[in-house]
Amino acid sequence: MIIVQNYINGKFESIDSTIEDVNPATGEVIAQIPKSGSLEVENAVVAADSARKSWSDLSLEKRTIWLDKIADVLESKSEEIASLESLDTGKPISLARAVDASRSVANFRFFAEFARDYKSEKFEMDDAINHVILKPVGIAGLITPWNLPLYLLSWKIAPAIVMGNTVVAKPSELTPLTANLLAEVIHEVGLPAGVVNIVHGLGSEAGQSIVEHPKVNLISFTGGTMTGRKVAETASPMFKKLSLELGGKNATIVLDDTNLDDAIPGIARAGFLNQGQVCLCGSRILVSEKIWDEFIDKFVTFVKGMKVGDPSSEDSDLGALVSFAHRDKVESYIHLAQREGGEILCGGKSPKLSSPFDKGAFLEPTIVSNLSHMSRTATEEIFGPVVTLHSFKTEDEAIEMANCTDYGLAGSVWTGDTQRGARIAERLETGMVWVNTWLHRDLRVPFGGIKDSGVGREGGRWSLGFFSEAINICVKES
Ligand code: NAP
Repeated sequence: MIIVQNYINGKFESIDSTIEDVNPATGEVIAQIPKSGSLEVENAVVAADSARKSWSDLSLEKRTIWLDKIADVLESKSEEIASLESLDTGKPISLARAVDASRSVANFRFFAEFARDYKSEKFEMDDAINHVILKPVGIAGLITPWNLPLYLLSWKIAPAIVMGNTVVAKPSELTPLTANLLAEVIHEVGLPAGVVNIVHGLGSEAGQSIVEHPKVNLISFTGGTMTGRKVAETASPMFKKLSLELGGKNATIVLDDTNLDDAIPGIARAGFLNQGQVCLCGSRILVSEKIWDEFIDKFVTFVKGMKVGDPSSEDSDLGALVSFAHRDKVESYIHLAQREGGEILCGGKSPKLSSPFDKGAFLEPTIVSNLSHMSRTATEEIFGPVVTLHSFKTEDEAIEMANCTDYGLAGSVWTGDTQRGARIAERLETGMVWVNTWLHRDLRVPFGGIKDSGVGREGGRWSLGFFSEAINICVKES
């Protein structure tokens, strides 16, 4: 049993009230975490406030060195990160290694290097020069979900501290283990006390206390659209800087000139990576009617070959969903799809696994056909291993179908003609589109959604901009 503590002002602290953390692949309780409330958040904010001045007085160059130190120690613990993430979330170990562990290290390295290279802007006038400088915002409240726990936490902590802010962070209570490991790493490298504070607990208690605390100047939130709305309702009237990275229901458009043998592994990856629990997953697959039959044959065969099972096995393509409650929610959408007239082409139920995984929150990768593209199943975020298939006649129809949801996060277009793909990509109402690939990330580019998928952008200079206040100093020639 792992005992997770809060990390406040450079010290690990327990409280009497705790929450159990469960391994969703077996149902076993693996850790106890603090059930923090406003008192613990207040202590964390006081710590962040007292660390603020000395941390922001440090040069940017010196702060980047701290990021490098954190990255070095995290990298030495890559295997531990992968194991903890797989245990806590139920995701396959191969994915936890390739994505979660490596990106968490890369986030610290990237923002150290990117901030070092940052050149402040100057705008010359006939008789004056404007100098734009970036100042820290103050205390950053960072709230993150369970699907990519350390990946998303480090994506926020690294730019927040490199720009001179101090941090109060709350990870999802479903997946606290790697945030705890990060606190240990931060402690080991000796980052000044109070610069990073991690408070564990429920969103409605610890999370809400961070959002509503008057001394927290900025909120960076990643999670569901409903929760994002609640966060905005609290933070906006307080004029906090706010970034909301929310849900998605992303289209995958497969054009008639696509080489299906090349594309299907990528389309299946987009649908089912991390058991479909990635905000960017392509869960509505729109296929040209000219290749519909061939696509269904090949796609269903490929997905039937995906192995669901023991997350610690190198052979597993899919592990468990993050919790039993979430598995129930995803299953309820499969039942809804059937009520809406959908035909289940594969999956749709829990796989038969041997002990101890027979008690886990597993679900087979599921393909549903025969639904309207406007049905609830095809337009609401399910966030699990369920995709729907729809056929289209023309490019215009594909674009209209892709744009018909309230979400606008991501999408992908698959084609033999990249110019045609790029032309269609420009007409999609989303923050990000890939052509002939998916989740191919360059950390310098803007990341974020439009419509109900979020407000603001993170990534590269957008993160540096969000985690700072741009101040203009206009100096007139004497
Ligand atoms: P969630 O329920 O919205 O929770 C996200 C975080 O917010 C958790 O730490 C949660 O704590 C906390 N929270 C809940 N209520 C809060 C409140 N009133 N004030 C402050 N914080 C609060 O989302 P989730 O189920 O963890 O994650 C899945 C969602 O995240 C999906 O919709 C997915 O699309 C989205 N997501 C978006 C992106 C993106 O970049 N756009 C990336 C990843 C995931 P508890 O865990 O205790 O509830």
